[in-house]
Amino acid sequence: MNQSHARYQPGDPPKAATSIDYFGESVSDTNASRSLLFLQAEALDKATNNNDWSIHADLTVAPRTEYLHWLWQAKFVAAKNVSTVSDTMLRACGGSGYKTDLGIERILRDGKAGWVMGPSNEVLRQFVGKTTLMGMEVLDYWEQVPNHRAVHHEIKKMTLHQRKQLAQDILKDVETAEKGDAAKHPFQDSDFENPFNTCPPAYNNREFKTPDGVNHAPGLNPDKWTPLVLKKYVDVSDKMASFMFSLPNPSDHTGCYTGQYVIVKVNIRGKEHTRYFSPVSRPNAFGQIELVLRFETQGLMSQHFKALKPGDKVEFQGPCGGFEYEPNKLDEITLLASGGGITPGMQMIRDIMNNPDDKTKINLLYFSDNYTEILYREELDSYAAKDSRLRIVYTLGEAPENWEGEEGFIDTQMIDKHVTKPDGIKHKIVMCGGPTMSISCLHSLRSLGFPSHYIFIYGQFGTEQVRTVYGQNVQLSGHKCDNVLWATVGEKFLFRDAGT
Ligand SMILES: Cc1cc2nc3c(=O)[nH]c(=O)nc-3n(C[C@H](O)[C@H](O)[C@H](O)COP(=O)(O)OP(=O)(O)OC[C@H]3O[C@@H](n4cnc5c(N)ncnc54)[C@H](O)[C@@H]3O)c2cc1C
Repeated sequence: MNQSHARYQPGDPPKAATSIDYFGESVSDTNASRSLLFLQAEALDKATNNNDWSIHADLTVAPRTEYLHWLWQAKFVAAKNVSTVSDTMLRACGGSGYKTDLGIERILRDGKAGWVMGPSNEVLRQFVGKTTLMGMEVLDYWEQVPNHRAVHHEIKKMTLHQRKQLAQDILKDVETAEKGDAAKHPFQDSDFENPFNTCPPAYNNREFKTPDGVNHAPGLNPDKWTPLVLKKYVDVSDKMASFMFSLPNPSDHTGCYTGQYVIVKVNIRGKEHTRYFSPVSRPNAFGQIELVLRFETQGLMSQHFKALKPGDKVEFQGPCGGFEYEPNKLDEITLLASGGGITPGMQMIRDIMNNPDDKTKINLLYFSDNYTEILYREELDSYAAKDSRLRIVYTLGEAPENWEGEEGFIDTQMIDKHVTKPDGIKHKIVMCGGPTMSISCLHSLRSLGFPSHYIFIYGQFGTEQVRTVYGQNVQLSGHKCDNVLWATVGEKFLFRDAGT
């Protein structure tokens, strides 16, 4: 008799789960989650006479609130279900579940990221536990009440030295907090897209002649859409490709400053969509602009780009913001990059490497998932081999045998080893990666004594991330090479801050 078809008897050793078992478990879990949600929806309808909004003319009527406790549970169970079902399905599909086209790994990643990064699920679990045991009145919705018991408990674990260090850090935070809004730049944070900006992004509308007598004008405009033709499309890794577009005239510069990003508009099924991109080409790589895109499984813009053919048109506007690099304003620039976050750094590296008169040193600490995902490795290595201004340290999630670079995410030890210490030089640290990378690197930088105003982060929430780690009223970097440390007198730092 074929053993695989033998009926399972109680007492037999547990058999390995099959795909059918996985599906059975996933369908049961999902339906349990859906049923809880359905019950809640039904209860909310009942409580409001089938969503009769007229009862809310009296603003004190809030009949749904008594279901809050149950709604937290429904949300918690649903979020947990996304994570466990996508994980189970991945196992059911074996190795092929990791193929990006299936979309499972994306959902798993997003589900797990939501679990870890969005504290909401963990907070919900706390809410449900606390209110079940102690009633709704113990809730501290906005985390306003410090938990002294937990604080004392943690402090007890510290050595005397660690306690002293913590006390000094807290005193520093209090000092900056007492300065209040006076420490804040009047323009900074007023532009959501460019929270570090100390003034609106600059536009390089200059027309100039090169020694060959050719006149160069800006090809893009920050206020008008310019259609650009796709010249070529080259895969740069499994998940990323480079797209080279022609500027309107072969002699055009982009009109951007090095480090700035642009906005792109496409029409997909009759609807316009826009996304920001950091070009990897230099503003003065005349006649062209190069973007590198990561293909997101369900990404609207990236999937549209994937289908583009040479000759197709895409509309561009820019510059829109970003760091504005200028030659010889800094002694050193450090780039902390992860995956596709190399794009603004690549632009700066190409710019500095193409300008022998620029004395600025550039230091790249670059994390990639694996060796094949290191973007522009050959080009980067060839620059570093012949130009002492560029120093590169690669770090890999999965390193091949005999790998001589670093391994794992960028951490305190790596920054300590590879980033020049804050010793009075004019230095900026430019970060581009995900929020998890930014926060973790910020903690490392702070613990190693790097001042907050050294640090520029690409992305909308960069200043918030700096404040989360350094304190609410700390001095922030501007978007230019200005407010950098330029001298130290004893223990006191002096700043040159052209932005204020
Ligand atoms: C300043 C700046 C510079 C940038 N520079 C670059 C750059 O140089 N290169 C680059 O690649 N990107 C860059 N980006 C990011 C870029 O703007 C886009 O956000 C990115 O390309 C994704 O856009 P998309 O339309 O392809 O994805 P979207 O459609 O916006 O989707 C976003 C995410 O949601 C997921 N998703 C969407 N729909 C679903 C669904 N139904 N189910 C499950 N998941 C779903 C997608 O898979 C994707 O992960 C930059 C962003 C900023 C702010």
